[in-house]
Amino acid sequence: MPQAIYHVPTPVNEPVNPYLPGSKATESLLNKYKEMYNQEPIDVPMYIGSEEVRTSDKRPMSPPHDHKKVLGHFNYGDGTHVDAAINAALDAREAWANLPWEQRAAVFLKAADLLAGPFRDKINAATMLAQSKNVMQAEIDAACELVDFFKFNVAYVTQIYNQQPESQPGMWNRLEYRPLEGFVFAISPFNFTSICANLCAAPAMMGNVVVWKPAESQVYSAQVIMELFKAAGLPDGVINMVTADGPTVGDIVFKHKEFAGLHFTGSSAVFKHLWKEIGSNLDLYRSYPRIVGETGGKDFIIAHKSAVAKEVATGISRGAFEFQGQKCSAASRAYLPSNIAGEIIEYVKADVATFKMGSPEDTSNFINAVIDEKAFDKIAGYIDYIKEQEDAEIVAGGNYDKSTGYFIEPTVVVTTNPKFRTMCEEIFGPVITLYVYDAEDFEGTLALLDETSEYALTGAIFSQDRYAIDLASKKLENAAGNFYINDKPTGAVVGQQPFGGARASGTNDKAGSYLNLLRWVSPRTIKETFVPAQDYRYPFLG
Ligand code: NAD
Repeated sequence: MPQAIYHVPTPVNEPVNPYLPGSKATESLLNKYKEMYNQEPIDVPMYIGSEEVRTSDKRPMSPPHDHKKVLGHFNYGDGTHVDAAINAALDAREAWANLPWEQRAAVFLKAADLLAGPFRDKINAATMLAQSKNVMQAEIDAACELVDFFKFNVAYVTQIYNQQPESQPGMWNRLEYRPLEGFVFAISPFNFTSICANLCAAPAMMGNVVVWKPAESQVYSAQVIMELFKAAGLPDGVINMVTADGPTVGDIVFKHKEFAGLHFTGSSAVFKHLWKEIGSNLDLYRSYPRIVGETGGKDFIIAHKSAVAKEVATGISRGAFEFQGQKCSAASRAYLPSNIAGEIIEYVKADVATFKMGSPEDTSNFINAVIDEKAFDKIAGYIDYIKEQEDAEIVAGGNYDKSTGYFIEPTVVVTTNPKFRTMCEEIFGPVITLYVYDAEDFEGTLALLDETSEYALTGAIFSQDRYAIDLASKKLENAAGNFYINDKPTGAVVGQQPFGGARASGTNDKAGSYLNLLRWVSPRTIKETFVPAQDYRYPFLG
């Protein structure tokens, strides 16, 4: 039994390696990339309990920037594997839930240090290969953000456990933060390796067991996450990875009595569908399931007439196009005041003209490929649509080519219609639409911005005028869960800008904060009376 109340190490954000050209760190990462690219094709199993499960249904994995290259295969499962994963999770539950919290914490602190050290090149290279991220995008995601998720969440777990009720004389009140009764289902998107790991790790830290279904386009880096968990000593069955058709997995999980919570990140349409499924099966469950979903965005930049044009342009160039615009936080609509719009647009065009596009193996490429053919066709479809419209014009980019990889030129659109389709819908690619507003109608434009899209994830105001900043902060209070002043709307850091949005963007439970962790516990209040009463009569009875 523990003989002390332990303190956890104070977390600090993992320093981002700048990967300067020619540096040792860059050489080491690129060597790992080449090694993984050239090695014999790998065979990624499902991880169910202590088993690595393989099937005869092998699905290929290829880099998006080099889709003819086969890196290996993953094993596609069916309903029997989903059942097995649920059973493995439930079998592991009692031991894991009863493990002292400092032992659970130690697993994730160890994972953080392994990731910051011996796993760093591997997870970054896997993310470059699987998701076509350049070295910097891989580093800030797969290495740094994930290290931060592990370390900061361990500290938040401790803070939560420390939250205890008052006690009056003669009694002791205590609050126990029990894991949910059953298992948690984690469904992850393709775009952030760190988010995928955290969707599993956050509930597990609180003592829950997890069935995880990664996106098919992310399985290559998902395997490294499972290797990391194993190397850190996570017991078998606590996190089980199943690679199978989403609806097939969902159909079994959502009809299971022990389904206790959904931890989802992905598109709003899928999340709404899953919520309805859960609602329609409510009578089957032991408890009301926790539903946590971080979903889509139509993230904005609005510049005030006092803004510095070059700063706005840089916010657009980075905010819209890093990782090919495939961040849920990526700027995809911007409102530019008429007095400086021309200048901003020229700066953005000049930036885009210097962007290099290609494989992440060439570290001078700022832009890489979009994730897969389906995404490519969808984004290309939007670009074709824009080309046919009278009220919008492509002023930079607009070309695409999938012969070698799924490459889409960063595309800048200027529209005269503030409700133009690409001002409203999430494209999830390197396309930003700009609308030029009358510089004297800032307040009216704030109202327009607020009502234009169903999403409310991230947004930014650029201004030198404090009154304008204050007005925008108030008028756009509900338009973004992460609001930036004079900065791009991407790049949230764990421990600094807890992340999430409301409206159609999700339940806003703020990944990487105590708010998210609280969703994975069911507190029990305990009141202990030291000298119990022996007479039912209260004094007022006389
Ligand atoms: P997606 O919705 O297509 O897929 C997400 C996951 O859901 C995948 O694992 C997919 O296989 C699974 N899925 C799809 N249909 C399912 C079903 N019927 N049953 C069970 N599972 C099902 O999203 P994506 O393309 O992987 O990711 C991009 C989306 O994620 C964008 O909309 C983006 O904005 C959003 N996103 C949001 C955040 C955030 O924090 N708000 C972060 C990252 C990504």
